Amino acid sequence: MTTIDWNNLGFNYIKTPWRYRMYWKDGQWSKGELTEDSTLQISEASAALHYGQQCFEGLKAYRRKDGKINLFRVDENAKRLNRSATRLLMPTIPEETFIDAVKQVVKANEDFVPPYGTGATLYIRPLLIGVGDSIGVSPAPEYIFTVFCMPVGPYFKGGLTPTNFIVSEYDRAAPQGTGAAKVGGNYAASLLPGKDAHDHKYSDCIYLDPETHTKIEEVGSANFFGITKDNKFITPKSPSILPSITKYSLLYLAKERLGLEAIEGTVKIDELDQFAEAGACGTAAVISPIGGIQYKDNFHVFYSETEVGPVTKALYDELTGIQFGDKKAPEGWIFEVE
Ligand SMILES: *Cc1c(COP(=O)(O)O)cnc(C)c1O
Repeated sequence: MTTIDWNNLGFNYIKTPWRYRMYWKDGQWSKGELTEDSTLQISEASAALHYGQQCFEGLKAYRRKDGKINLFRVDENAKRLNRSATRLLMPTIPEETFIDAVKQVVKANEDFVPPYGTGATLYIRPLLIGVGDSIGVSPAPEYIFTVFCMPVGPYFKGGLTPTNFIVSEYDRAAPQGTGAAKVGGNYAASLLPGKDAHDHKYSDCIYLDPETHTKIEEVGSANFFGITKDNKFITPKSPSILPSITKYSLLYLAKERLGLEAIEGTVKIDELDQFAEAGACGTAAVISPIGGIQYKDNFHVFYSETEVGPVTKALYDELTGIQFGDKKAPEGWIFEVE
């Protein structure tokens, strides 16, 4: 058995016993299987290392009150991985294979799925990389698909306590670039602005649209939403934002469960006054309330720097209630691991 302190987990790598591996060679995937080997042996000339030909996913397994384990909208992760792969000329993975791989990994590492009520979850990381011998700028001859997992706590320290963010002067993606693909390159570019933000005690930075720098795009690793004073849920729409599955789930829940008007639209950085509350959302971030945003010399506070707002809290309760199996899920959102 494990000796993990479930109540005090951060968002850190922990080596769990089992991972899934599948290899693409000569135009086809091998039969995927579980392995205990946590290292990858790859060519020094692998395209993933030199030219960033790789993409990944992130999702969680949730322990229910009855002890069973839920996955949340894993079919959407499968679809998104394939969209990212297609953008980077990598082979796609059949949706059923992806879902089966995730289920196998969760099942094999079942002891590491945190108990219900701790707020902790099992974070699952599917990864697709271009490997093999090639040095010219071209798609790799071979690929590795792997899925591993680890128990995690909150991504932003504080959980449902608001934290502050700062608008970056850097861009994370270009208008017709790879912002909508979940690829490592976007993250490599975000490390420096992220460090600047952390050095100044902000949780992370917020990126503006790369074309005009007047509209909010997203947080480094999560999407942005605001609740207007007249109860509209608004989240930015742009081709260079990573389409967050959590965000689309909240658009639905805000409308169908909370009766808010839910809009994907424009969020101008100089119109933050319209919002009563704001937050960052994503699988890792869940819903992290935003206390305030620093933009140039101005610090804008939303609901409160210390307390979560009522609508953000209601959305959080609805979303996590569904994920942990306490609330009725919309059709097709929950996949049980058996
Ligand atoms: C993964 C990711 C998100 C969140 O997406 P979810 O599907 O909600 O987990 C948001 N922004 C970026 C840049 C991401 O990589």
